[in-house]
Amino acid sequence: NRSLADTDPEVATAIGAELHRQQSTLEMIASENFAPVSVLSAQGSVLTNKYAEGYPGRRYYGGCEHVDVIERLAIERVKGLFGAGFANVQPHSGAQANAAAMFATLTPGDTILGLDLAHGGHLTHGMKINFSGKLYHVVAYHVAETDYRVDMAEVRRLAVEHKPKMIVAGWSAYPRQLDFAAFRQIADEVGALLLVDMAHFAGLVAAGLHPNPVEHADIVTTTTHKTLGGPRGGVILTNSPELAKKINSAVFPGQQGGPLEHVIAAKAVSFKVAASEEFADRQRRTLTGAKILAERLSAPELAAAGVRVLTGGTDVHLVLVDLRDSELDGRQAEDRLHDLGITVNRNAVPFDPRPPMVTSGLRIGTPALATRGFDTDAFTEVADIIAGALSADFDEARAAALRDRVAALADKYPLYPSL
Ligand code: PLP
Repeated sequence: NRSLADTDPEVATAIGAELHRQQSTLEMIASENFAPVSVLSAQGSVLTNKYAEGYPGRRYYGGCEHVDVIERLAIERVKGLFGAGFANVQPHSGAQANAAAMFATLTPGDTILGLDLAHGGHLTHGMKINFSGKLYHVVAYHVAETDYRVDMAEVRRLAVEHKPKMIVAGWSAYPRQLDFAAFRQIADEVGALLLVDMAHFAGLVAAGLHPNPVEHADIVTTTTHKTLGGPRGGVILTNSPELAKKINSAVFPGQQGGPLEHVIAAKAVSFKVAASEEFADRQRRTLTGAKILAERLSAPELAAAGVRVLTGGTDVHLVLVDLRDSELDGRQAEDRLHDLGITVNRNAVPFDPRPPMVTSGLRIGTPALATRGFDTDAFTEVADIIAGALSADFDEARAAALRDRVAALADKYPLYPSL
C-alpha cells in the first residue's frame, strides 16, 4: 500500500516531469488530446485487477458482475453516440480494432484497397511490413497531384480492376472530409466490404460536425483517444448482426485475451462526456482553431518562403503544412517549434522528395488545445506564433519573444490544475 513515489521514485519522477511538460508546453500533435480527470480516475482504478475474458453475461471468469455493468454502459453509450446497432469496446488500440475487423472478414491473400501511407493513410491500411501488408494483397489509392484530395476516380478504377474484398476509407494525415457515399457506391459496384477508420475524426462525428460513416460503412473502427478525448483504446461498430458476431469472435478469442476493463470504464466515461454540449463546444473550437491556423499559415510572406497549406485549408482538426519549396525541412520545423514549446510532428506530404525521417511537412492539430479551453483569440495567437517561427526572417531574438508568448498562453489556459 505504499505510494508510487515511495515504491518507485524513478517512475514517479518521470510521470511528474511529463505532467509538467504537458502543462507548460502547447500540444499540437493532431492525434493527441487531454483525457479528463474522470477518465484518468477510471483508468487508474482497481478494475485493472480483474480478468473478464468473454463478453457481458458470457464470461469465462467469476466475479464479473460489476465489470459487466461497466462494459454494458460503454457499449450502449458508444452505440448511442454514433447511431450503431452493435459495438465491441474491447480492442486495446486502434490498430487492434483494425486487425480484428480484418480478421473477422478477410482471409490471408485477399485484396484490400486502402489509402497509401505516404498520402495520409495509416499503417494498418496496408503498409508493407504491418500485419495488413503482410497478410493481404494491398492495392493503394492516392490523392490527386492537382488538388491533393483523394482521387475517387482512381479509387473506382483500382476497385474495378482489382476487385478488393475490402475497401478501407480513413486517414491519419488528411485535412479534408472523405465522400463516404461515393466509397459506398464503389464498394457496392465491385462487391467489396467498406471499412471506415474514423480514428482521427470520431470526436467531430460525435458532435455532429462531420458526416457519420456508420450510415455508409459495413464496419467502422475508431480509437478513443484522439478527437474523442478518452483513454487510449479502440472500438468497432457495425449495423450488421452477422458481422457483429464475426467481429466479437475475432476480438476474443481471435486476437485478444482478457479485456482491459479499467480502460473500458474510462471509455464509458469518455462516451458520456462526448454526448455533452460542453464536448460539442470543444469540437467546434477545434474546427475553428484549425481554420484560423490554415488561414494564418497561408499568408503571402510564408508562401514567399515556400511554406504552404496543403489543399489550401482544412475541414477537420488538423492542418498539413507543405514545406517542399521551403529551405526548412519537416525535421527542422518540428525542432524549431519544439524549442519554442509547441509540440507537433513532422509528416511526409504526398509526393514528398525528402526521406521519411526528414520529410517536407508538418501535421498540426488543434484538439488538445481546444480541450485546454483555447478560443478564437488564443488560436489566433498560437497561429501567429507558428507563422513567426516558420517565416524566413526567424532569428534568435524572435525565438525568445515567441517562447514568452507560448509560456503566456500555457499560463492563461491551465491544464490539470488539480493534479
Ligand atoms: N487508425 C488511424 C487512422 C490512426 O491514425 C491510428 C493512429 O494513429 C490508428 C488507427 C491506430 O491507433 P493506435 O495507435 O491506438 O493503435
